[in-house]
Amino acid sequence: MTSPAETAPAPQLRERSEIDDRFKWDLSHIFAGWTEWQAAFDELDTKIGAYAALQGTLAQGPERLLAAMKLSDDIGQLTYKVWYFASLKYDEDQRDNTINARRQQVQILFAKASQASAWFNPELLKIPLPTVQQWMVLHGELAMYRFAIEDLYRQQEHVLDDKGERLLSLSSRFSSNPHDAYAALSTADIKYPLVPLSAGGQVTLTYGQYRAILATNRSQGDRAAAFTAFHSLFAANVNTYASLYNGVLQRDWFHAQAREYKTTLEAALHGNNIPSAVVENLIDATKGGTEPLRRYHRLRKRVLGLETYHNYDASIPLVDFDRKYPYDTVVESLPPSVAPLGAEYQRHMREALAGGWIDVYENPGKRSGAYSAPVYGVHPYMLLNHNDTLDAAFTVAHEMGHSMHTILSNAHQPFVYSAYTIFVAEVPSTLSEALFLDYMLTKATDDRERIVLLQHAIDGIVGTFYTQVLFADFELQAHRLAEQDQPVTADGLSEIYFNLLKAYYGDALDYDELSRVTWARIPHFFSTPYYVYQYATCFASSAQLMQQLTTGSDVDRAAAIDRYLTLLKSGGSDHPMTLLQRAGVDLSRPEPVRAVVDQLDGLVTRLERAIQALG
Ligand SMILES: [Zn+2]
Repeated sequence: MTSPAETAPAPQLRERSEIDDRFKWDLSHIFAGWTEWQAAFDELDTKIGAYAALQGTLAQGPERLLAAMKLSDDIGQLTYKVWYFASLKYDEDQRDNTINARRQQVQILFAKASQASAWFNPELLKIPLPTVQQWMVLHGELAMYRFAIEDLYRQQEHVLDDKGERLLSLSSRFSSNPHDAYAALSTADIKYPLVPLSAGGQVTLTYGQYRAILATNRSQGDRAAAFTAFHSLFAANVNTYASLYNGVLQRDWFHAQAREYKTTLEAALHGNNIPSAVVENLIDATKGGTEPLRRYHRLRKRVLGLETYHNYDASIPLVDFDRKYPYDTVVESLPPSVAPLGAEYQRHMREALAGGWIDVYENPGKRSGAYSAPVYGVHPYMLLNHNDTLDAAFTVAHEMGHSMHTILSNAHQPFVYSAYTIFVAEVPSTLSEALFLDYMLTKATDDRERIVLLQHAIDGIVGTFYTQVLFADFELQAHRLAEQDQPVTADGLSEIYFNLLKAYYGDALDYDELSRVTWARIPHFFSTPYYVYQYATCFASSAQLMQQLTTGSDVDRAAAIDRYLTLLKSGGSDHPMTLLQRAGVDLSRPEPVRAVVDQLDGLVTRLERAIQALG
């Protein structure tokens, strides 16, 4: 017999119709109903046809280029509404086949739209940039598109001639093969082991169950058994994993060389115009700031009363605490928590919370997780599955940060710059969580709650910052093996990972041989190389902004608020590094990382005090 690992009791699941309307989003803000949606869908289809008909006109002059840019904006705006109405409706109950069919209809239309617009970039790029720049000087309305147009030319620097591009496009058919094989090996074909638990019964050790045991099971023996069983799965095929990862590395190096980048990192960062030094500096500065991380784990070992302290002991809560955070109390706390961002920000947030924007509770068939959907021309919608836990409370703060970014960006940018890049997206969500934590800490009356809040914040820094930088470091070192014609073997990759663990955790951890193979179970390495560092740069940016917003004189803080709101209002109107620099964050310097290290240091000190107070 299998029994699930200890988990919190699931909240009562209600039918959607039984949930009060004030806890549901109101999609009539987008369209009154499916009839109006269909009309917009047809209009979109017509406009996509009209766009295709513009092919061959750009060279005729600025009016023609402007007409194409404007029609593209029109199509884009309509796309948000048509897509999200169907997609949000679908997420209310994914069992509904009729709505699923409509959602797929939009996806098919998108494929048609991308074919209908494929001519634009090559045709524009045939016109010399100075000519287009001249047009922008003469034509005021066209000047608005300057950044978008010039960035297309900048991206062009590494585009090959037609023959070269065709050759590269032929390789795309097998370039996802290492990842596809990884997914098959690590998910589809994996045989999850049964692990016996000390309290009796046994667990089928999926990744979800593995995480649940590490986060809730108070028996160190059970956690150790789960760790050993789970990592043995990867150790058993480690040479195959290494060979697949070598496929990723060689593919990336092939593309970088074909496009004449000096390194794979340079190729990966070119799209957002980020210098390689940002990632190198992030890695170096973080390695120099591991002491508070080690201090936290030494403290955990002492508080948990463990003889030895392992990787698998790092996520168990320090104290038991079962306070609930009902949605209404979270909503009450949010606007006061963002007081440091000023009255304008609070006013926008109250509007977002007032009604019809947020889908709060779980119901049968509803999509899991949480997101903020930027419906241009309407307002952001937020999907939650609020279950009264502390994590759920912070999720509301997080998604609200994304939504505020959308509100301010959409209000201040023309459509073409309204969307922001991933490189800045997690800055406002992280900052929103940090402000919420500060507020909750000032409100907390009991030491247990204080400990739980502090652990939540610290684990957030460890997981979204330190671990992601360690991952980025691993990816960089592994890619360099390929770039420098070094062999890529399972032993070599495991050695890199093990040395990184030791560089971060030092004497704070007792090391298990099996943790060497951890790299083989990180899907990001195989699916999206050089991606995870962005979580860390967002976190560091947010930490430095938080410092500027909450310390210093009134005048300094007012200036920091102004710079921060300007960042949110800037959307995607410039490269992310430039936008962040204007907000007071220079990611090519060590200060943002130091802000995270200082933040963690302060939180660990507060945690020590709260534990002492508990006695
Ligand atoms: Zn987010």
